[in-house]
This record gives sequence, structure tokens and C-alpha cells, in this order.
Amino acid sequence: MDNCLFCRIIKGEIPSSKVYEDEYVYAFKDINPAAPVHVLVVPKVHIDSLEGLNEENLQNVVHIHRGIKNVAKAMGINESGYRVIVNCGKNAGQTVFHLHYHVLGGIEMGEKIL
Ligand code: AMP
Ligand code: ZN
Repeated sequence: MDNCLFCRIIKGEIPSSKVYEDEYVYAFKDINPAAPVHVLVVPKVHIDSLEGLNEENLQNVVHIHRGIKNVAKAMGINESGYRVIVNCGKNAGQTVFHLHYHVLGGIEMGEKIL
């Protein structure tokens, strides 16, 4: 996906503040953080959104969740806790159509989701 923003970040064509990387996922600080820790974890292969997951690429979910745990450790929020958000489609306000998991922490967010 030549003009996908996150594909370009993964390739290093657009700068990012990298937090973690392995064979399958790339994680970087959100440019407009909503919490003291706000990291985006993305698969290295292009998948539009959660709705783009299928039997062929579903293993990325495992890789992403492994990545999230490693990001939480690297950012020092694995014990204090964190929230993971995936926006999917219009009603959720998804703006970048490359699957990404928001990892938010470093602050008490309370029990309300919205
Ligand atoms: P979403 O609304 O779930 O699609 O989230 C997209 C996220 O990407 C937003 O939180 C943006 O702040 C973030 N974002 C957009 N461009 C960049 C960028 N160049 N580097 C890091 N984060 C970005
Ligand atoms: Zn992409």
C-alpha cells in the first residue's frame, strides 16, 4: 500500500518515534497523545481495519497482542495497567485505514469506557 501512512512509517519513509519492533509488528508514539503513554501497535502487513481480518491474516492478532505486552513493559505500564482501543470504521471514528491498536496508560482512566 504505497500511500498508506502507517505502511510508510513502517518502511521509514515518514519519521516516527519507535517504541518497539519485531518481525511482525511495529509500535510508535501517537503524534497526538490522549494519555501520558499513547502508543500505536500496527501489523507490518497492510490490513485496512479489524474488518479486514480473515483466515489468512488472523495470526497477526496474536503477534499484535504479543507486541502490546512488550510495549507495556517497555513503557513501564505493565503493572499499573493500560487500555487498548481499536477503532473500526466510520462510527468509531477510524481515520487511518491500516489496522492499529491504541495502547493508553500512565494515568488512571476510571471505569467508564466512553
Ligand atoms: P484512529 O482514529 O483510530 O484511526 O487513530 C489514528 C491515530 O493515528 C490518531 O490517534 C492520530 O493521532 C495518529 N496519527 C496520525 N498520524 C500520525 C503520525 N504521523 N505519527 C503518529 N501517529 C499518527
Ligand atoms: Zn498500510
